[in-house]
Amino acid sequence: MKKLIAGNWKMNGSLAANEALLREIAAGLPTQAACAIAVCVPAPYLAQVHELIAAMPAVALGAQDVSSQAAGAFTGEVSASMLREFGCRYVIVGHSERRQYHGETDAMVADKAKAALAAGVTPIVCVGETLAEREAGQTEQVVKRQLAAVIHTNGHCISEIVVAYEPVWAIGTGKTATPEEAQVVHAVLRTQLKAATDQAARVKILYGGSMNAANAASLLAQADIDGGLIGGASLKAPDFLKIVAATPV
Ligand code: PEP
Repeated sequence: MKKLIAGNWKMNGSLAANEALLREIAAGLPTQAACAIAVCVPAPYLAQVHELIAAMPAVALGAQDVSSQAAGAFTGEVSASMLREFGCRYVIVGHSERRQYHGETDAMVADKAKAALAAGVTPIVCVGETLAEREAGQTEQVVKRQLAAVIHTNGHCISEIVVAYEPVWAIGTGKTATPEEAQVVHAVLRTQLKAATDQAARVKILYGGSMNAANAASLLAQADIDGGLIGGASLKAPDFLKIVAATPV
């Protein structure tokens, strides 16, 4: 399966900075990248980035959140069909920053994944334990609970999602799970997906959490790590390009 390297720009960027970043990425991308590539950008920049990547067929567009509702009186929300209209192929759901700062529950995340799938947008469903949960030996239990909610709500469509294992303690901290630590959790998630669908082998499970140019190759070499969700390093073209280049076929 082709691996996926997805950048999560978070709440960063400007019209000028986005253009400069994407031009630098375009200039450095090999004609035939070995992996699929996506950039998940703040909603106001979807139209701009959609246009900028039109000449970059290897790069797909993604958003960072979506409403669980299709339309209506939900001030401030953005629906999956709107994302689709602006060319989004992916949307991140359940990022730990949204779970932490916006009170998103497992059920809400599952509903968002469902809304995305219904509109033909692939949800990148984030799961991951906090440091306290890891230290209490609860990593497996936490990620399985988070994924179970999405499986429960999405039934047979579950093979259409992308999963991102993002240990909360590794996000933006410079601390990365070792390739072996990450692989253990990815294998747990794969087994859980296998129990839900006979298509589990084609579900991409990304690793996210301080992935960078130096550690990408060893993480991406693990059997069940099918790509990366990249925060900080996706804002620096040379780093993002090195991660793309480090991705095994
Ligand atoms: C993220 O926000 O999804 C992420 C993985 O961030 P970082 O790479 O900066 O840790």
